Amino acid sequence: MGERWRVAVDRSVCIGSGMCVGAAPDGFRLGPARQSHPVAPETDAAESVLAAAEGCPVEAITLTVAGSGAAVFPPEE
Ligand code: SF4
Repeated sequence: MGERWRVAVDRSVCIGSGMCVGAAPDGFRLGPARQSHPVAPETDAAESVLAAAEGCPVEAITLTVAGSGAAVFPPEE
């Protein structure tokens, strides 16, 4: 893909299911309070990171294109 994505987790929404860590172990970590956070604020665009965002049961994960801010997930309606 060649893009860089900004990754954000809304911790007020995250329920700590850990599914994002399972989908993209290099992209997300669970903190001590079982709250997810991105390992780095930006990452290379990757199917695993997109799958993590799509798989989050509460849609806590937002992906945008670094620089332009264009929506990756959730997709712009
Ligand atoms: S999948 Fe969603 S709710 Fe579960 S830990 Fe990750 S961000 Fe939190």
